Amino acid sequence: MKKILLIQTGGTIAMNAKGEGVQLDPEAWSNTLIDRVPELQELAEIETYPLFFEDSSDLNASHWENLARCIESNYETFDGFVILHGTDTMAYTASALSFALINLAKPVILTGSQVPLSSIRSDARRNLINSVEMATTDLQEVAICFNDHVYRGNRSTKLSIGDFDAFGSPNHPTLAEIGLTIEMNVEAMKLLPA
Ligand code: ASP
Repeated sequence: MKKILLIQTGGTIAMNAKGEGVQLDPEAWSNTLIDRVPELQELAEIETYPLFFEDSSDLNASHWENLARCIESNYETFDGFVILHGTDTMAYTASALSFALINLAKPVILTGSQVPLSSIRSDARRNLINSVEMATTDLQEVAICFNDHVYRGNRSTKLSIGDFDAFGSPNHPTLAEIGLTIEMNVEAMKLLPA
């Protein structure tokens, strides 16, 4: 079984109902993950790493460096990496990592959700399962996996604040489409960035 490192950085996916609203909840996060997606361990041997808990609109270059170093120091131990991240600046982090992780030969998949994992109507469960599955493939780049699509990290953008289908890569074909089967677009993966 492949070994995947699941790195938590915050965002809506890491939020929990507290009092009147929802808040980032570092203490509850790993229990929520086990409660909501217990079968994740069937896809891969998963280790979790709570790196930081931030709304992604508060991130800066030092967080990107932190993430890149986390992947660098765990690179040999794991077959792939999934980064849980707020959606607002996910595309920026994906771009930064794609340039920081030179000669990357393993999948680094960013995902998040529009509704917290702790909520029953959350899109997080599907995004998580798809992302872990993608992290077990031969993809050799930084990608965003969201709502059944996989996009090249440095060609992706957030397109909607309200739809589950929140991302796109208007200038690059999708790397994979996830439906009844997973359709990997090998030609799109071979295309070098312009
Ligand atoms: N403000 C949140 C963030 O980017 C929104 C989200 O995760 O969807 O961290």
